[in-house]
Formats: sequence, structure tokens, C-alpha cells
Amino acid sequence: MAYKISPEVEEILKELVKDAGGDGFERIRCPLCRWQPTAESRWCCASSGEPENFDGGCYTVWNTFETRGRCPGCNHQWRWTICPRCHGWSLHNDWYEKNAS
Ligand SMILES: [Zn+2]
Ligand SMILES: [Zn+2]
Repeated sequence: MAYKISPEVEEILKELVKDAGGDGFERIRCPLCRWQPTAESRWCCASSGEPENFDGGCYTVWNTFETRGRCPGCNHQWRWTICPRCHGWSLHNDWYEKNAS
């Protein structure tokens, strides 16, 4: 059965796709393994040794890319962010892709 959607419907569908994809995380990647976080990704504020050397984690669980690395529980500014996939630490700023392409 041949079936064609009207240009109006096509426009609406395009808008919906744009909204769904625009969560702001598509330009963020692990510098080591290229893993990309999503809005559902979570980190835990736990005491850690090298390289952050942070003693006093408050065990808040949140998405660190929604706060640019700042823990909403204890206000600690994390300079380093661990990758849940490769477990490597990278500077938080290095996760943001700099070039447009
Ligand atoms: Zn990684
Ligand atoms: Zn904390």
C-alpha cells in the first residue's frame, strides 16, 4: 500500500525529532574512549584519591554534566570526571568537544 505523509506532517515530525535529540549532551564525550553521556547518566560524589584527591564525598547521585561538575549535595566542584565505561579520569572541561564538526 503506497502511502505518503503530507509536507505539514513531515514538518511536525522533524520538529519532534529535533526536540528529542536536543538534550545538550551530544557534544560531550569521554576524551579517552569517546563514550557519550545522556540525560540518564549518573555520577556519585564519593571520596576519591588520584587525581581528584577529594576526601569527604557526600554520596549524592546526579548528572555531573547538568551542573558542570559541581556536586549539588556538598557544592564540591569536581575538576575531574570519571568515565563509567572505561573508568578513566579526565578533566571535566576536556569532556566538552571544542570544534564544531
Ligand atoms: Zn571513557
Ligand atoms: Zn558532594
